[in-house]
Amino acid sequence: MTKLAPIDLRSDTVTRPDERMATAMAAAEVGDDVLDRDPTMRELETRAARLLGTADALWVPSGTMGNLIALALHLQRGDRFLAPRGSHVLTHELGSAAWLAGGMPEPLSWDAGPGRPPADTVRNYAGAGSRFDALRTTLLCLENTHNGAGGVVVPPHEHAQLAAAARDGGLRVHLDGARIWNAAVALGVPPAALTVGVDTVQACLSKGLGAPVGSVVAGSDEFITEARRMRKMLGGGVRQGGVLAAAGLVALDRIDALAADHGNATRLAEGLTELGWDVTPPHTNIVLASVPDVRLTLARLEDAGVLAVPMEGQLRFVTHRNVGKADIEEVLRRIGSNQQ
Ligand SMILES: *Cc1c(COP(=O)(O)O)cnc(C)c1O
Repeated sequence: MTKLAPIDLRSDTVTRPDERMATAMAAAEVGDDVLDRDPTMRELETRAARLLGTADALWVPSGTMGNLIALALHLQRGDRFLAPRGSHVLTHELGSAAWLAGGMPEPLSWDAGPGRPPADTVRNYAGAGSRFDALRTTLLCLENTHNGAGGVVVPPHEHAQLAAAARDGGLRVHLDGARIWNAAVALGVPPAALTVGVDTVQACLSKGLGAPVGSVVAGSDEFITEARRMRKMLGGGVRQGGVLAAAGLVALDRIDALAADHGNATRLAEGLTELGWDVTPPHTNIVLASVPDVRLTLARLEDAGVLAVPMEGQLRFVTHRNVGKADIEEVLRRIGSNQQ
């Protein structure tokens, strides 16, 4: 039997630049962004800052570096930072928040729903620290959408309450908004509505928006000045970065198109449920399925021509711009016939 070309639902990071993006990259006006800035980079950063509701933004090669820069600037060594259990900064950044940024991580339980700690929990930690030997808690790191919880959207009022609880306790707030665009589209609000009360935010251009490389980290002018130094220290400055920023500018035109990915995720979840799977209805473009044996199911899916990944003891499918409606039906057909 000839093997079917696999349909790749491992992540929205597998998206490839299309012709319009490639053309924009080839035609980009460039400078030397490390020496004295690159004009296309500046255009991207200005536009991203406007979208995110911050004074300025800085392009960074990855979301991981964007988070690290923010955490390194917010934390003193040994400071405690709070983050919802299963956050990317806790589980998928190799402990760099601790060993490079110097933070003592405190995972917060999801008492308000998947991926969502309540504001009271933040208040409880913020209030501690009066004894000389107690940890100082200085930062709350939120994640919207929450990847490990299945692309879950934190509603704006809840987000604002968390940020307010942190600020009342003297904490700063960083938002890992790798998929903030998905959250905004799902809620029908501008991305800036999700950064209210936040000091800094990281947002990915390379996931559902389809740029080959890049994220932005955004905040105040003072923060961006320091962030640029930190990016240099980490080796993240790029010279003729306009080539990459041009891709980012095209990516930012595609925020509204994420709605199609969300529709496809909903259809996938419905179809899997009809096939007898235990699936959580998705908020955005991530579908989590509970299966008895994750490794076995992944192997069977791969044989059937469908790629997924393990995520926190479950199976994760991610829809994205390179997988259309018809592909989702084909995924369901392949899984269905593989189950016979
Ligand atoms: C993907 C992701 C990141 C990191 O982005 P990279 O560009 O892969 O380094 C950070 N946070 C969350 C929630 C993510 O999903």
